[in-house]
Amino acid sequence: MKYDAAVIGAGPAGSFAAIGLASLGYRTLLIDPCNKKKVCAGILTAQYVREFETDEVYIERKLKGVKISFRDINGEINYRQAFEYSIDRETYDNFNLNKALSAGSELKKDAVVSLHETDQWIEIKTKKDVVYADYVVIASGVSDLATQFGGLKQYAYCMQQRKDATPDSYFEMDMKTDGYSWVAPKKDYVLTGTSSLIDYPDIPGDKALIPVGGPVERTYFSRVLLAGDAAGFVSPFEGEGIYYARRSGEIAAEVLAGVMSGENNIADYEKRWKNEFDFSTLNVVSDLLADEDVLEKFVREIRDNEGFNEFVENILTKESKDLSPGDISYLLGKIVH
Ligand SMILES: Cc1cc2nc3c(=O)[nH]c(=O)nc-3n(C[C@H](O)[C@H](O)[C@H](O)COP(=O)(O)OP(=O)(O)OC[C@H]3O[C@@H](n4cnc5c(N)ncnc54)[C@H](O)[C@@H]3O)c2cc1C
Repeated sequence: MKYDAAVIGAGPAGSFAAIGLASLGYRTLLIDPCNKKKVCAGILTAQYVREFETDEVYIERKLKGVKISFRDINGEINYRQAFEYSIDRETYDNFNLNKALSAGSELKKDAVVSLHETDQWIEIKTKKDVVYADYVVIASGVSDLATQFGGLKQYAYCMQQRKDATPDSYFEMDMKTDGYSWVAPKKDYVLTGTSSLIDYPDIPGDKALIPVGGPVERTYFSRVLLAGDAAGFVSPFEGEGIYYARRSGEIAAEVLAGVMSGENNIADYEKRWKNEFDFSTLNVVSDLLADEDVLEKFVREIRDNEGFNEFVENILTKESKDLSPGDISYLLGKIVH
């Protein structure tokens, strides 16, 4: 059985790639074992909420800002125009997967073991079977498969647990030089978590890896595209990955459709996401905050300086498109040195 496209992984990257391809009439197969609990704080960022339609079925709470602390310094950013949604991640993933199936994609509940590119197609070996496709989107998140294609060299180790506490309408970030600990409020409980660059923090909870260090070196091959976490598309500053996963899945579908109709070259994928995703600005912020003195001043300024507070709000909500890495470096540098 040969498909026009196989999409490996039914997280946001894979489901939105499959939605795009199947809606255009391409014979699409989604492959995912559908057997793993996703460890995620479940925040749909302001940019996500601004750009995409959302559904109340997975929304747990509307968030009006973020509380940022470092040691005993506490700052609070109230979003002026934007807001975020805290979601139930499992319901969100199932919702998107069902949309892909309604659009006409097939689903194979299986795990892909290896891929073999030939001149004519790709042979996809799963645990139970072999299938063929003209093109493949690897959207398998942090996985061995992504690593086989040269992805994901750097991770942060995360632990998260559910806590029965009264939720607030702010996402909380307790900053560290190599990341942060968080409190994500849900409808009637919170998720607390923390990350480390060295190893899983020694506390009880659900474990997961998150890519750090930005996009992988190559996100396209002659018949294969990498999307979402598999391509390293996660903001190094706040760990946002759902927006990039969804959008890169959509771009992958558009480019593959263009390749199949003769209007696109597969290399266009990289041009398209580079044109939209600004990881360099976020890298600048995250690199500067790897220093304790800088971090302390950063949070103090958020607390005491209205202009700076607004400036960080713009970075977090991506409300202002005119902040270049140079501007960020200059402005942050001015304040924190
Ligand atoms: C602790 C933690 C908290 C986070 N919080 C947030 C947040 O609040 N907001 C935010 O925007 N981002 C957050 N992220 C990041 C976000 O979860 C990811 O960026 C996002 O899930 C990436 O989507 P994806 O579709 O690329 O991969 P995933 O969502 O990881 O989906 C990959 C899919 O591939 C499947 N798969 C894996 N291997 C195979 C295989 N061999 N064959 C077939 N299928 C396979 C898996 O079963 C899975 O369903 C967080 C990450 C972590 C670790």
